[in-house]
Amino acid sequence: MTPPPGLYDSHAHLADGRLYPLLGEALADFRRAGGCGVLAVSARVAEWERVALVAREDGVWGALGVHPLYREGWDAQAGPQRLAAMLAGNPDLRAVGEIGLDFHLGRGDQEEQLALFRSQLAVAGAGDYPVAFHNRQSWREFLAVLDGQDRPVRGVCHNFTGGRELAREILDRGLLLSFGGPLTWPDARRARESARYAPLDRILVETDAPDLPPRPRRADTSAPADVARVLAVLAELRGLAVPELAGRLGENFAELFLSPRNGLGNRL
Ligand SMILES: [Zn+2]
Repeated sequence: MTPPPGLYDSHAHLADGRLYPLLGEALADFRRAGGCGVLAVSARVAEWERVALVAREDGVWGALGVHPLYREGWDAQAGPQRLAAMLAGNPDLRAVGEIGLDFHLGRGDQEEQLALFRSQLAVAGAGDYPVAFHNRQSWREFLAVLDGQDRPVRGVCHNFTGGRELAREILDRGLLLSFGGPLTWPDARRARESARYAPLDRILVETDAPDLPPRPRRADTSAPADVARVLAVLAELRGLAVPELAGRLGENFAELFLSPRNGLGNRL
């Protein structure tokens, strides 16, 4: 499918309690800025119903999943089936995420994180859903889990801030890289190196709203319209005009999240 030209935010927490009360305004701002599509991700089970609701908005699609640090409410027995059933029953829900491994606070719960990650990845694999990945200080373990899957996983590493070596390992496995607010920060040397290096058809942009606001705007929170600033910095890094880059990234968004194969894995 050819997406309408414009801005696509590949990762925003529209169901987050800080953003949800302002959602009408935030989406209106986004559309005024040229916004055409947002992937509304979830971090915890308690957000799933709200993400499904938000995904009914024009140009909003949803991803369901459990972030490695927000496991409350996840039932290891019934969780995978519930996740699969909610996704299968709603064509606005197009992906699994955000899921992954986060050892920033230590590895005391490494086994629980790995079990949660593997079981959600199995749901994504069975339905052939793309995945929004969250990883922090866990890249070796993450790549090992991916390499242990019996078929390639489709997905994107969200808020990628790593350098070129790590970018290459992720790209070699067929995944995309999504750049967010940190790309606009003055100390983003490694992220900028990767943003220059990655092939154009393997890049997305995002806000991670309501977190990681771009600079130079000084604010505590971000909203989907801020993806325009990330795109502008990326266009400068790549030496491309903003509309041309926006068109390419819109195609990437559509190919990954709006593909008709999403959700058909176990029915093909
Ligand atoms: Zn996020």
